[in-house]
Amino acid sequence: MHATSTPLFRPVTRIVRGMPASDGAGVRMLRVIGQPQLPNLDPFLMLDAFGSDRADDYIAGFPDHPHRGFETVTYMLAGRMRHRDSQGNSGDLGPGSVQWMTAGRGIVHSEMPLQESGRMAGFQLWVNLPARDKMCAPRYQDIPADRVPVVAGSGLVVKVLAGRYAAADGPVSTVATDPGYLDATLEAGARFDHAIAPGHTAFAYVFEGEVGFGDAATPVRATHLAVLGPGERVGAVGGPDGGRFILVSGRPLGEPIVQYGPFVMNTAAEIRQAIDDFQAGRF
Ligand code: FE
Repeated sequence: MHATSTPLFRPVTRIVRGMPASDGAGVRMLRVIGQPQLPNLDPFLMLDAFGSDRADDYIAGFPDHPHRGFETVTYMLAGRMRHRDSQGNSGDLGPGSVQWMTAGRGIVHSEMPLQESGRMAGFQLWVNLPARDKMCAPRYQDIPADRVPVVAGSGLVVKVLAGRYAAADGPVSTVATDPGYLDATLEAGARFDHAIAPGHTAFAYVFEGEVGFGDAATPVRATHLAVLGPGERVGAVGGPDGGRFILVSGRPLGEPIVQYGPFVMNTAAEIRQAIDDFQAGRF
């Protein structure tokens, strides 16, 4: 191989293990992006993976809290949550549903479990907004499971939450960073092959079994995130007992990030403004 050639399949450049964490009023989860080993992965600011059969791990939920300057994306695998915000919007998130919330200039909301027992599992991803969109009007895209296309292939099933896979378009629209978000389940040895725009950031988070990525089929086990470097396509192969992962991609912003908890802006002055606005009830 020529030293300067681009590999066919994006190589694994880093593997990061999700770190046990607690957030909201005491919800236990794995923090994958937004922890010391991986503070962010432009344009992604945070990825939490939650999954438990024990109500104690999730029952406290996420009471009222603000957001400004980015988007929160909740993808439910199991269980039910209810979302309510300061402007009177509310919605229920069930298994397989997606909520893509563009916080923009600010919302105050709660995310609380609608169950007192049973399994609760899913992901919350934070996607940054470019400076020009940070103060946009808040917007919700609440997508029930039956609007998420499912593409079945040889030994694989792919759900398309955002972006395009094969000929299927995900239901999320008009997002600044042109994101892709797939949920892929591979049987042992099954092959996955998908093009992502060159220059876009891409990562895979494996949450069941094991999956190999890149020309070298670098193995990545459940609870681990693989950063995928430059390459023409994303190639994956199911491990010995198969595997399941989310594949997330987006255009990096290359802008300064100044974060104070749930406020993510470009300058310290904008953070002070966010705190003032929140304390004055202007969200
Ligand atoms: Fe929130």
